[in-house]
Amino acid sequence: MSDKPISKSRRDAVKVMLGTAAAIPMINMVGFGTARAAAPANAVTPDDATAVALKYNQDAAKSERAAAARPGLPADQQHCANCQFMQAEIGEGDWKGCQLFPGKLININGWCASWTLKAG
Ligand code: SF4
Repeated sequence: MSDKPISKSRRDAVKVMLGTAAAIPMINMVGFGTARAAAPANAVTPDDATAVALKYNQDAAKSERAAAARPGLPADQQHCANCQFMQAEIGEGDWKGCQLFPGKLININGWCASWTLKAG
């Protein structure tokens, strides 16, 4: 072993490594949170034929609802959660059933061109 003092650049490298080691648990926590919020396996995907035909987007704000708004509510208030076809008894959390996507789950914050205001 050398008796030479550790150079500044080596000290800096050690500090970076220690900082990285401390950050890893934080990254894992963030990753865990993301995984929990991830779409379920049977979520409607953007390439689903019905989704394409109906212009479904799991994020209504990014959908075509402004241009293709349906009667009943202003476009920015139309989303799956207040749609007649959403099946609240199927799925959990933000992912629910929809009569137009049998066996799959849509996001309650989504929108499609068949949106119809839920009856009273
Ligand atoms: S029919 Fe309604 S609940 Fe189903 S995807 Fe379209 S907007 Fe959402």
